[in-house]
Amino acid sequence: MFEKEAQEFLEKLIITPSPTGYEAQGQKIWKEYVTPYADRMESDAYGSALARIDVNSVLPTVMIEAHADEIGMVVQHISDSGFITLNRLGGSDSTIARAKKVFILNKRGRVTGVVGNTAIHLQETKNGGGKQPAWKDIFVDIGAESKEEALEMVQVGDPIIFADEIDYLNDELIIGRALDNRIGSFIIAQVLKNLKKRKNELRVNVLALNSVQEEIGGFGARMMSYRHMPDVAIVTDVTHATDTPGINNKEHGTVKLGKGPTVQHGAANHVAVVQLIEQTAEKHEIEIQHEATSVRTGTDTDSIFYQRTGIPSALISLPLRYMHSPVETASIKDVKSLIELMTESVLAMEADQHFSVF
Ligand SMILES: [Zn+2]
Repeated sequence: MFEKEAQEFLEKLIITPSPTGYEAQGQKIWKEYVTPYADRMESDAYGSALARIDVNSVLPTVMIEAHADEIGMVVQHISDSGFITLNRLGGSDSTIARAKKVFILNKRGRVTGVVGNTAIHLQETKNGGGKQPAWKDIFVDIGAESKEEALEMVQVGDPIIFADEIDYLNDELIIGRALDNRIGSFIIAQVLKNLKKRKNELRVNVLALNSVQEEIGGFGARMMSYRHMPDVAIVTDVTHATDTPGINNKEHGTVKLGKGPTVQHGAANHVAVVQLIEQTAEKHEIEIQHEATSVRTGTDTDSIFYQRTGIPSALISLPLRYMHSPVETASIKDVKSLIELMTESVLAMEADQHFSVF
């Protein structure tokens, strides 16, 4: 576990609903927490939040980044009998949607619903014949008897999340609905806190960016990195742990929970930034794992590295089991290692740091 104040912040941050496009509640909590560790705070029109440590304007600027949003669903249609059909917000998985409790979020607050699951005795084709259900065949019951009654509680377009919150396995693993990627928002907040305490050792300025709208295409990160053009970016997001039954390691690589954060190679990851991170890990004896990126990293790194004239970037990922489910599972030890690796990598940067491939 973490120190008490950090632990409380982590749990509050993860529990607070922040589906893509509706991140304001979570962003408020993040901003409130990091404000004492920042020299200046900033946010933009769509709600990405930025905390900065200013050392000296002649020095290079390093951006550390995570995304604040989580996947979810939206109210797509309300039937005459008051049942709601859904559409997905980001990469939500319809195979796990049934028989779950959900919260529908709107200006009236939080409406509880259940995703209907026809009893096994009544199913015409048992378990849908093994096929993944289409979102149009999934419905939410909010206890309304008619469309009119349902419309008193919700409207088309309201975002929806699963009602699951947080728990721990064996005191070593954390389980939660939105670890992807509010655990990353937590990580950059802790890194900022460490850097503020060690400001006299810093030879670079620091921007900690908590971006909106990653799950639908990395839009928040794109806006803020275009605006600020840092000299280098270190991004953190979750990656697939491939150490559970049924995953083909030949196809998906080998990433284990508890064996440290992963460093990604290829695509947007700049070789010199990756090298600095690897050297930092070696110096501080932080265990890391390696991953190959073929075309895209599938994270905000893809949105950041090619802004304007290019921002040398690298991704450090947190291994996660059961991604995009309400029981996403990560190792607390890996989270601590990632915080240390990111902190020390920023502190390792020189006043004349220049990243080049030649
Ligand atoms: Zn993510």
